[in-house]
Amino acid sequence: MTQESTQTDTASPVAANFSHVLEAIAGAAKTAGRDAAEITLIAVSKTKPAEIIEPVLSAGHIDFGENRVQEAQRKWPPLKARYPASRLHLIGSLQSNKARDAVALADAIHALDREKLARAVAEEMTRQERRPECFIQVNTGEEAQKSGVLPADADALIDVCREKYALPLVGLMCLPPHGEEPAPHFALLRKIAERHGLAKLSMGMTADYEIAIAFGATHIRVGSAIFGAREV
Ligand SMILES: *Cc1c(COP(=O)(O)O)cnc(C)c1O
Repeated sequence: MTQESTQTDTASPVAANFSHVLEAIAGAAKTAGRDAAEITLIAVSKTKPAEIIEPVLSAGHIDFGENRVQEAQRKWPPLKARYPASRLHLIGSLQSNKARDAVALADAIHALDREKLARAVAEEMTRQERRPECFIQVNTGEEAQKSGVLPADADALIDVCREKYALPLVGLMCLPPHGEEPAPHFALLRKIAERHGLAKLSMGMTADYEIAIAFGATHIRVGSAIFGAREV
């Protein structure tokens, strides 16, 4: 570790957490025989105020995630004004009536999961001439309360997003069931992506990002390991 990052570590617990996560990513990538540079760390800052996010922005980090459009709308325009290179990923489930705000705000949308939403997002992309990259969320655990397209319906939705709506679809996203072994879910997501030639996999959070890296994650979404626990 360099002198410089040691100083940053002592300056803020968040900066220290952040460098630990970067080291863990490098280690997991090495174990998996992968290049860490092909893994995008999305620092998930939901519920956290700007002053907690700031040390990670000022360390030069680019990619951040929020799950609520309204919260992101409040927090991010001022942060983006100061850190113009930063990129905002909307990782939470989205209502169609939020498509306008989502397209205006996001650099990537991770939770497309139905045709109605795909259509609303496509219409807004045309209207606003903005094209945030899109991921389709797959409900790999087939959980009733969870958003995401069912694995059996994923092929059809992928085709519709590409052919009917010409969305900039880059990959798939999943959120394995709580308390279950995540590996089979990561493997399933990868299999669906591969058969459609989709290069990007948004999978892995604080509890399981090292496993996700072993299964080919290109985007990991890590919140509490960087910014601390959230109040429920
Ligand atoms: C909150 C959230 C994360 C990050 O969760 P941690 O366990 O804090 O890393 C990742 N993905 C989604 C979709 C989330 O809502």
